[in-house]
Amino acid sequence: MSYVDEVLARVKEKNAAEPEFLQAVEEVLDSLRPVIDANEEKYRKEALLERITEPERQFKFRVPWVDDNGNVQVNTGYRVQFNSAIGPYKGGLRLHPSVNLGIIKFLGFEQIFKNSLTGLPIGGGKGGSDFDPKGKSDREVMAFCQSFMTELCKYIGADTDVPAGDIGTGAREIGYMFGQYKRIRGLYEGVLTGKGLTYGGSLARTEATGYGLLYITEELMKDHGESMEGKTCVVSGAGNVAIYAIQKAHQMGAKCVTCSDSTGWIYDPEGIDVELLKEIKEVKRARLTEYAAARPSAQYHEGRGVWQIPCDIALPCATQNELHLDDAKQLVANGCKAVCEGANMPTTIEATEYLQENGVWFIGGKAANAGGVATSALEMSQNSERLSWTFEEVDSKLKDIMVNIYHNIDDAAKRYGHEGNYVVGANIAGFEKVAEAMLAQGVC
Ligand code: NDP
Repeated sequence: MSYVDEVLARVKEKNAAEPEFLQAVEEVLDSLRPVIDANEEKYRKEALLERITEPERQFKFRVPWVDDNGNVQVNTGYRVQFNSAIGPYKGGLRLHPSVNLGIIKFLGFEQIFKNSLTGLPIGGGKGGSDFDPKGKSDREVMAFCQSFMTELCKYIGADTDVPAGDIGTGAREIGYMFGQYKRIRGLYEGVLTGKGLTYGGSLARTEATGYGLLYITEELMKDHGESMEGKTCVVSGAGNVAIYAIQKAHQMGAKCVTCSDSTGWIYDPEGIDVELLKEIKEVKRARLTEYAAARPSAQYHEGRGVWQIPCDIALPCATQNELHLDDAKQLVANGCKAVCEGANMPTTIEATEYLQENGVWFIGGKAANAGGVATSALEMSQNSERLSWTFEEVDSKLKDIMVNIYHNIDDAAKRYGHEGNYVVGANIAGFEKVAEAMLAQGVC
């Protein structure tokens, strides 16, 4: 049995109840076969794959808080510090009822390679809770965030572990958490990223994941002799990543005709009105039915369905496993040229394979949504030097990073004989640096 298969079998046995984590490990290790096979003896002796698939540390804790009716509620909090070979743990906090340890582990594992791809010194981590901020008052969200941070603050710090936003954790939640950290630890430091601009946040961080996604998509198109001008895009999600992906795509001359949330989706053949979407999602925190009510050109549909709309480019920006094999078949039948993932692991393994086999250029989330964490690392740099860079400065660094990522993953894929397979390229390029750092640091 090859070393990869041996480790995969072991990981499956040890983590049988964590399907998302297994899916992520399988996808990564499978695509690393060319590198692992070339170094099998050395990696096996060092137990490199056993180590890289085992979190360095993980915390699970009780988060009690009081709701507006005076009742005590209890949620579960998590922080997984997966790998610190190339820098302090870095990765977001997800607040969503679906959160469990397996989901946090899958996200933390992916984060190791994504962070490495940015070229910046950040390790991999992830955290969150099964708390649902939806429908809660600001006071309830604050009560939860303060209780969550009361425990989390024991394990994080500007030079050890720097969490950020993710699904359900936006500027409001980061603000409440930062306030509580400062209060308990007595430290004014860059312990969280995605902060507000008045207290150490970076310009362009809000836009970074969506903008970065479009910078890498543009580079991909350019490399294939195409441009974004006049392209039709379908987008899923209506949160932070989706909104700024749509905004940047429109600035590049493309037209995004869909968006979605967890209850339904919008088809707007005239192009999504970003300002209206921002008002509904960022200010009112309302449902997409309000978008359709305010915009005569838009149709609202219940459930899921954005992938059936004909497009040149598909940008999944909502959540994991939201683009299935049937959707991939529909995209191919409609002549879709490229799929670039704004969300983490939105495309199932079967759907990814189908897209690749049918000539769709596919860039996975690890590379395509790395602009968010890259800009978080730029926020850490600004916090360390106690300076703030201009929007243009940050945006231009972000663009350079995304263009570099594209060429690095393209080169890595070519080096190992997988030209055009950007998933293999991203995993290899991300893995090489982490593996070298781990080996250099001895058994730890
Ligand atoms: P938000 O919470 O801002 O938005 C998430 C969007 O996806 C919302 O429209 C939400 O709908 C929808 N959604 C969430 N869960 C589901 C579900 N189970 N089924 C259908 N729709 C769902 O999160 P972000 O935009 O920040 O994150 C989106 C994705 O991008 C995630 O995979 C995240 O891990 C990834 N990502 C985010 C980064 C960032 O900087 N924010 C960086 C890198 C990756 P509803 O409002 O109804 O819940």
